[in-house]
Amino acid sequence: MQISKVAIVGAGTMGSSIAVAVSGSGFPVVLKDVDEEAVRAGLQRVDRLLASMVKKGLPQHDAESQRALIEAATNYEAFPDVDLVIEAVAENLDVKRVVLKELDDNCNVHAIFATNTSSLPITLLAQATRRPDKVVGMHFFNPAHLMKLVEVVPGLDTSTDTARTAVEFGQALGKLAVRVEECPSFLVNRLLGRYMNEALWCLQEGVATVEEIDRAAVEYVMPIGPFALRDMNGADVGLAVARYNYQEYGERFKPSPILEQMVKRNFLGQKSGAGFYEYDRETRKRSGPNPELSEVLTDVRALRAAVPSAHHNPETDQLARVLQTDFSQPETAIHASFRVERLFLPMINEAFLVLQEKICQAEDLDPALMAGLGMRKGPLTLAAEIGLADCLRQLEELFQRHGERFRPANLLKRYVWGGRTTVV
Ligand code: NAD
Repeated sequence: MQISKVAIVGAGTMGSSIAVAVSGSGFPVVLKDVDEEAVRAGLQRVDRLLASMVKKGLPQHDAESQRALIEAATNYEAFPDVDLVIEAVAENLDVKRVVLKELDDNCNVHAIFATNTSSLPITLLAQATRRPDKVVGMHFFNPAHLMKLVEVVPGLDTSTDTARTAVEFGQALGKLAVRVEECPSFLVNRLLGRYMNEALWCLQEGVATVEEIDRAAVEYVMPIGPFALRDMNGADVGLAVARYNYQEYGERFKPSPILEQMVKRNFLGQKSGAGFYEYDRETRKRSGPNPELSEVLTDVRALRAAVPSAHHNPETDQLARVLQTDFSQPETAIHASFRVERLFLPMINEAFLVLQEKICQAEDLDPALMAGLGMRKGPLTLAAEIGLADCLRQLEELFQRHGERFRPANLLKRYVWGGRTTVV
């Protein structure tokens, strides 16, 4: 299907940067929000983004032409001739359902609705309309005008034509548009979640400090360490995501209690002035590690003390075992035991689980992770570099020691049994 005119509902952080991405490729855009004030704030964001692009070399004239393509709206008057609507309102099922129903009533029957949800099921959202075949997930990354990846997620009822149109539209924006089958957190955030969690477990066990873990991750393949990233996104957002993944996927996504403690103490990261690091509230510049973090770790250790030994609880018993083992080691021995692969093995293993579930094509996986997270190498390349047999061996050892987070994916075993050394 040919896309000539686009609308974006929700002119917040994502809506405004998506408007810049879409207008940048020459599409006229209607940018709608609830009232004049919200729309004005959205347009101001658009202007700020365009101004920063001009500073980086976009000709002023091009920025003005791009801006002229964006029309603001507080109602649906301009929607009947729109071909594609990108829904970017708050991450709330009820709010999104109301918006999708309104769109269904106000748009041409041919129009496609793409939702930018990060976590809500596309299949469920599609049911708010009489056109579930024309509803698809288009998961942009923040900031959408700069990030190269868009995950295109069809729901159960999404037609082939709708999914294809969404992929082609993503490509028309100059993005890497990767088709991802519907699953909680989709592809990139699902894999990211495993790595972010593991960083917390490493910290909890005392195998390395915040700075050591961040430095190791950056030296290995990441543009930013897991704790600096957590501080950027906010521990409260991180906790909600971690709980959601745990609820959907079970034990291997079990969040470390550190995250809950951080939220309790308002160590949310940059926005509250302190997280894993301390920040200047005005400039948000990092000033050093958060000295109170040791209290958080002490609280988590107290959890161990609170575990009644006579009462058998596999979860807390395991935690107690882990904490007992690792905190009782001398400092040097503890640090010597940290290997950066430990952070990435859960992500690599999840990549094999994703392929096992046929969530995406194997050849799309590394490029998606690289474009979505800025990794210098994707998890399948890392797996091949470590050696698939070695990955399996390390996972088996870690599984013996820590349980479910490291249960090796059956597909990885099959690759090793089959003597493969690479995945793609
Ligand atoms: P935001 O809170 O910055 O913006 C949401 C906007 O939607 C607000 O301006 C609000 O006024 C508007 N809105 C609410 N109800 C509306 C309605 N009925 N009609 C029109 N506008 C309405 O949120 P955000 O961070 O831009 O997130 C939007 C969506 O994008 C969410 O689904 C979120 O999960 C997803 N997402 C966010 C990120 C991110 O990093 N922020 C990344 C990827 C996806």
